[in-house]
Amino acid sequence: MTGPKVGGSKVEGLKVEGRGAASGAAALATDGGNLEPFTFAIFSGLPGVRHGITRRAPGLHRDGDLSFVTGGAGTAVFASRRAWAGRIGIDAGRVVAARQVHGAAVARVTAADRGRGARVIAEAIPDTDSLVTDAPDTPLLLCFADCAPILFHDPARGVVGLAHAGWRGTVADVAGATVRALGEHFGSRPADIRAGIGPAIGPCCYVVGRDVIDGWAALDVAEGAELGRVVRPVAGSAGQWYFDLPLANRLLLERAGLRPEHIEDAGACTACNVEHFFSHRAERGQTGRFAAIIQLTSDEPA
Ligand SMILES: [Zn+2]
Repeated sequence: MTGPKVGGSKVEGLKVEGRGAASGAAALATDGGNLEPFTFAIFSGLPGVRHGITRRAPGLHRDGDLSFVTGGAGTAVFASRRAWAGRIGIDAGRVVAARQVHGAAVARVTAADRGRGARVIAEAIPDTDSLVTDAPDTPLLLCFADCAPILFHDPARGVVGLAHAGWRGTVADVAGATVRALGEHFGSRPADIRAGIGPAIGPCCYVVGRDVIDGWAALDVAEGAELGRVVRPVAGSAGQWYFDLPLANRLLLERAGLRPEHIEDAGACTACNVEHFFSHRAERGQTGRFAAIIQLTSDEPA
């Protein structure tokens, strides 16, 4: 039952449970042309939506840190974003980003918001950890280093969303809040919504204290064996637990009405895969941020 240690065992390529080994470090070149984003099978091949999760990219500024908060010079960060944007097929200058605060507020993004947070954080949508939109060619972008990225797409209504769920956002149910916002703003039915839970710190590496466990318990989402899968005591360490952040968010999405088969968990722990992703825990706070991006497109089919 013991999982990999933080910064421990070496992995060959990206360990992605259930999807086989994804393309590894060899796929990451120093020029933007060969950057290989992580993608979800559940969104791939669908017309009208583009998405990707960026990775640590040696050769880009600060290994491809895409945050204006941690990444230093904004022009260098924007250049890295543009390299990834070209690979994913979106326009970096139209990106809409948020000033993330580990909350559960959801912002509705319109075409008028294009470019907010694309070049400077001060222009990003404030105090928001979830973005939803029905506007095409309006890429949503949030930054991560252990917290769970949750990407949403409702092909029936033609809308997308993107949420940032660390433990605070998880116990505030930002996942469920995003599902409800898609319904309120666009008429999305939960049964039509697809969600991808991206690379995040896994139950192997995420040790938390009483505050997290109390917050999770207050949601009353899981009980019995299911609760035991989300929360496991750390042997010999009173007051500490392993917390399964991705599973907690899957359960919240299911409670909000999503079909289990419409939820894809990347199954990749950021701390175990620190050569591919930034990990706040594994790197003791001294790290960058990768980005999750999702966008509706108006130009398909060509
Ligand atoms: Zn791990």
